[in-house]
Amino acid sequence: MGRLILVSNRLPVTIQDDTNGQKVNRSSGGLVAGLDPLHLNGDGIWIGYPGTAPDDNANKLLADMRLEPVAIPDSEYAGYYEGFSNGAIWPLFHYLLEHCNFYPAAFEDYKRVNERFAEKILEHAKDDDTIWIHDYQLMLVPSMLREKLPGARIGFFLHIPFPSSEVFRVMPQREELLRGLLGADLIGVHTFEYADNLARSFRRVLGHESRQGVVNLSGRKVRIEAHPLGIDVESQRNAAFSDDAEQILTRYKRNIGDAQVILGVDRLDYTKGLPNKLEAFKELLDREPRWREGAVLIQVAVPSREAIGSYRDQKSEIERLVGEINGLYGRAGHTPIQYIYGSVSPAELGALYRLADVALVSPIRDGLNLVAKEYVSIRDDGAGVLVLSEFAGAATELGEALRINPWDVRGTADQIERALDMGFGERNERMAPMHKRVVENDVHLWVGRFIRSLGTPKNEISATPPMLASSTLAESLASAFAKAENPLIMLDYDGTLREFTVRHDEAKPTEEILDIVSSLSSLRDTSVYINTGRDRNTIGDWFEGVDVSLIAEHGSWTKEKGQPSWKRAGDEPDLSWQAEAMPILEDYKSRTPGVQIEKKSSGLVWHYREAEADIGEFQALDLTTHLENTLAGAPVEILTGSKIVEIRQYGIDKGRAYSHVSSTSGPYDFVLAIGDDRTDEDLFAAVGEDGYTVHVGPGGSIAASSLHSPGSVRRFLALLVKARS
Ligand code: UDP
Repeated sequence: MGRLILVSNRLPVTIQDDTNGQKVNRSSGGLVAGLDPLHLNGDGIWIGYPGTAPDDNANKLLADMRLEPVAIPDSEYAGYYEGFSNGAIWPLFHYLLEHCNFYPAAFEDYKRVNERFAEKILEHAKDDDTIWIHDYQLMLVPSMLREKLPGARIGFFLHIPFPSSEVFRVMPQREELLRGLLGADLIGVHTFEYADNLARSFRRVLGHESRQGVVNLSGRKVRIEAHPLGIDVESQRNAAFSDDAEQILTRYKRNIGDAQVILGVDRLDYTKGLPNKLEAFKELLDREPRWREGAVLIQVAVPSREAIGSYRDQKSEIERLVGEINGLYGRAGHTPIQYIYGSVSPAELGALYRLADVALVSPIRDGLNLVAKEYVSIRDDGAGVLVLSEFAGAATELGEALRINPWDVRGTADQIERALDMGFGERNERMAPMHKRVVENDVHLWVGRFIRSLGTPKNEISATPPMLASSTLAESLASAFAKAENPLIMLDYDGTLREFTVRHDEAKPTEEILDIVSSLSSLRDTSVYINTGRDRNTIGDWFEGVDVSLIAEHGSWTKEKGQPSWKRAGDEPDLSWQAEAMPILEDYKSRTPGVQIEKKSSGLVWHYREAEADIGEFQALDLTTHLENTLAGAPVEILTGSKIVEIRQYGIDKGRAYSHVSSTSGPYDFVLAIGDDRTDEDLFAAVGEDGYTVHVGPGGSIAASSLHSPGSVRRFLALLVKARS
């Protein structure tokens, strides 16, 4: 087992000049809090830029902490950091093309600094190490390592959005950046939408196809996964409920009196939409005099990247707007906007979260937004309301917030007012589930999930199996099948025997299918199973009168040939999670025309084949994240199949059903398994090298070969029938 090497632009420390030489102080913050335990409890190192060139004393302190500084000359750092990272990637990935400057020289610096990081990593890393690289400043590093460390597990996490491919392709160095990322085994992003955008860019820009988040390169796979960052709940709550926070809270309450408090906490960044927020607040005061004294907006604006011109410009614009609104609506003893320019202490921030009746989080684009999650983590009193921009990544997990489009000034004012007027009951109803979700999915869980996934890739799908003509495949299997004493054939139904239909209940077997299945099943000593994800009643009705064995609901139920009744695999499942899942499925259904929900005895399925394609895909991705968070502790897994999102009981799958059949009625001297989707991969894995595995359709699979379509499957099976007749 190798070591873990963490890599980020900045080391988790600041170096301070002191009269007796330099001092090294640990930084705080959500991500550091998450990665620190991983670093401290292991024996690995953390590589990054130290901010200031360390002297001998500081170098020694850093070495004791297993921190490895990367030396970067100031001249290069400017082009790398302010120039390319924050002057090109940052604005482009936040869809703000007008802020982009693509200076070729800045990219050269970016590349050179990425090389410096790679060189430093290669000084220390071995081929069995795990390397986790963070963020957009280091997108070229994964590939710079891959060639030298073919065996290392390399993970990359992007903490900002990945934009639509239509925007990404504006980047002059688009190929270089994407090729840089492809050195990783796992690329993590915050939401499924970003994962989808990245996969599309790989296809459009480099021509790399992917299937369910797996890009197949020759001989290697790169997985893209959504892992929304969690927060350090414990230290947030400790700070917010500390004695200091208590005193600060009392002071604020005394000053503010009866007015309701709206809180904004943002870095001074053009992505945060501060002008839009101020305009919306002004709109509210313009039209509703009761809020001129009835509400106060406390806006914390944390200085940021002041070396970049556009950051300085927005500061004056914001100050002008604050002055204008306070001039219009301020009265003696009442200031509508209390503007705090600067950082606040964790205790003060916690006190503000506790004070705020409404948190107004309105970025025009944000990778995730931690402030929203921090507010929610503090509010278990049920009295707070979160108003959240739909353009923040966190919106996918915080579905109960009041959503705003920050560009819509009137709509935003409406939602602020709705929040201010909202009664305690509804505030609590909305906040409680979000609070539970945020507290449960904290930063430590996030770290654990990413590292686990990096170490144990679950989606091992090899390169596309060779696509054979049905006659070629039949010819190669015919003699083994004809000679076998007790062959077993296991067939998936939808997408394998039968073409997909628009409505999932319309895919009844045709006469041709019934004929083929019954001829196969009546061949001498031949066992034939339809192994489907469908519910047992439907598949039972459809094959009524055909003498064939059936397995329904991905292995949950089996009906042996000639037997009248179904038998359940394992114990009665615990279905209590359905009460939590159903309202979510219903909610997404109501917002997605064409969706149907199917209830099975061991799971629930959300079908979107009939929905408008883009909307269906988008909602399915959003729904999946929502479910993964809500059902994190339940004994279920969430699968995305062909136009479905399925929640199914854990521990039962088509592969286990095969193993059960094989151990109770086998062994078989000939095994053939055919299927088309992700759930059939379990079956192929269980059959392994002992049998013949056939995937239907294009794309990756662990099966040994592929057939083109259900039509080819039927022709192939008809040829097999002939061979054994
Ligand atoms: N924050 C801070 N100092 C302050 C106010 C806020 O460090 O004075 C923290 C805040 O608690 C949050 C982070 O800054 O954890 C902001 O993260 P977010 O994801 O909201 O935006 P980002 O700045 O990363 O774009």
